[in-house]
Amino acid sequence: MSDTCIFCKIASKQIPVEALYEDANFIAFRDMNPQAPIHILIIPKVHIETIMELDSETLMTGAFRAVQATAQLLNLTAEGFRTVVNCRENGGQTVYHLHFHLLGGRFMQWPPG
Ligand code: AMP
Repeated sequence: MSDTCIFCKIASKQIPVEALYEDANFIAFRDMNPQAPIHILIIPKVHIETIMELDSETLMTGAFRAVQATAQLLNLTAEGFRTVVNCRENGGQTVYHLHFHLLGGRFMQWPPG
């Protein structure tokens, strides 16, 4: 856990959020600046800066399980959705605690801007 990381504070419940999905290793909550009708962030409870520091196979598998479970809970599986992980500056990462964006509720353009 990092004392200065906003997502660590969410994961440890120091900052309360509505958890849309939670398991032993991940928690999902709404993005405060939504880019789609449904915009969820799925984060590991442990502090991992970027996807490049993700080296636990348990967490790799668990991340995709958490994405699947959250998409199912939000009834996104039939219409579809987009999952995005931004990495560092060129990827547009602003919070350096690994997170999976889950975007749904509208058609997603490709390529992204
Ligand atoms: P990224 O640019 O990939 O690092 O995405 C960070 C995301 O975190 C942005 O979409 C922000 O809107 C979102 N965000 C930052 N702080 C919070 C917060 N306290 N609660 C919910 N979403 C947040």
